[in-house]
Amino acid sequence: MEKKYISTRNQQKEINFYQAIVQGIGSDGGLLVPDFDFTKMDLEALMKLDYVDLATEVLSTFVPEDGKELIHEACKNAYGKGLFPKNVVPVKKAGDVFVAELFHGQTAAFKDMALSLLPYLMTLSLKQLNEQREVMILAATSGDTGKAALEGFKDVPGTCIKVFYPLDGVSMIQQQQMVSQTGNNVKVIGIHGNFDDAQTAVKKAFGSQELKEASDKHNVFLSSANSINVGRLIPQIVYYFHSYFELVRNNEIKLGDEINFCVPSGNFGNCLAGYFAKQMGLPVNKFICASNKNNILTDFFTTGKYDANREFYKTNAPAMDILVSSNLERLVWFMTKDGDKVRSYMDKLNQDGVYEVDKEVFEKIKDQFKAGCLNEQEVLETIKSCYNETGYLLDTHTAVGYGVLKRYQHESGDDTKTVLLATASPYKFPESVYKAIYGEELNVYDAIDKLHEKTGVMIPKPLVGIKDREVLHKQAIDKSEIVDFIKSEIEAM
Ligand SMILES: *Cc1c(COP(=O)(O)O)cnc(C)c1O
Repeated sequence: MEKKYISTRNQQKEINFYQAIVQGIGSDGGLLVPDFDFTKMDLEALMKLDYVDLATEVLSTFVPEDGKELIHEACKNAYGKGLFPKNVVPVKKAGDVFVAELFHGQTAAFKDMALSLLPYLMTLSLKQLNEQREVMILAATSGDTGKAALEGFKDVPGTCIKVFYPLDGVSMIQQQQMVSQTGNNVKVIGIHGNFDDAQTAVKKAFGSQELKEASDKHNVFLSSANSINVGRLIPQIVYYFHSYFELVRNNEIKLGDEINFCVPSGNFGNCLAGYFAKQMGLPVNKFICASNKNNILTDFFTTGKYDANREFYKTNAPAMDILVSSNLERLVWFMTKDGDKVRSYMDKLNQDGVYEVDKEVFEKIKDQFKAGCLNEQEVLETIKSCYNETGYLLDTHTAVGYGVLKRYQHESGDDTKTVLLATASPYKFPESVYKAIYGEELNVYDAIDKLHEKTGVMIPKPLVGIKDREVLHKQAIDKSEIVDFIKSEIEAM
């Protein structure tokens, strides 16, 4: 059976893996999903593998039969060449919670897990398709995607990358990481607007006839590094298996026991990858989807209604500040397997800012996904109490997960062993973390030094000396200018 992908909105079908990677998003504005049954994995065999081979086995179930060698090469390049520690994702303990640290890549955030691999998936796909045109990668970022994508794509032949970030919506460290980015094919542009504005404009660019014509004329095409790309999603399946096996290896559980995963969520890509892992046979009881004050996902998972008519808050966990959670569309597709229905939901969302799934769909969702949210004050209190009680230093995003998990455990009595996915290093948000524990407001660089001095927790290599890096990108435009800007970049090629 050939493995084909389909758009969640049903109007594009029958495309293969390589096309899905290169294209990024469905031609009808939907997201691309596998139109084949997930492969049930042999847990016992997988458990013996190191991360590179585990990733190869998991990922090659998504590509054409003869693609396994290519995937193996890509996984080796991404995870096996010293950009990550040896076992890639260390699993630690904070009290009785297992913490899978996804932040040991090049930018100290979990986006590295997928964005270290995506450029390799992109170049191998371009080759398979015999594509001669240059690819222009567009990425809207709430902070972490941008830097991770820039690191991944810098100086990759045949590609260039433009990253758009909200000027007031990312942390100091995230901004400094991006504006100091080197590479001959990279541009970083600040946006007057929030992340949703940037994401919406980039999605619009993909649907624009005008840009399509300009691209054709200049022998380039647009693709996406956002988590709408399947190439972002599927690498994330791997660490669900990996962390599960770590628990088995450490005699915390027996192979076959069910565990829970708690996931600090924004665009819902991370959590959705966990759902894929479960479909592939990973024994998962519940997913606990954690949100900050922007709690649209919490409301969705408790009511079945997705209502974006609400205020947008800038919080101390900015990578989770979101109103339109793109990957939820994929979950709804899997729960309905009905693209016409998904399209009608998304049309409603576009027109009225709200949709509600059918009752039986909601029942299915509710059964597997629990949800909760924390406000900013609760985030700070969680960082402090976790550090004082367990000695584990949480970043603001992971703290959202930890706090939501503790409340869920208390309220539900569910004592299933749980892996919390740690999505960023505490040193990416050092002012908030320092203030949470020691009560003092410091500037960002002092906070890094003091936090290290007092806790002894290692500063990640990518953040050492960041203060002194030269600012190379100063451009800023209004959110309304994004599409025109992309057009002029295309015309300059
Ligand atoms: C992107 C990000 C998230 C949210 O992940 P999604 O896959 O968008 O749900 C959470 N925490 C951090 C630090 C992130 O960078």
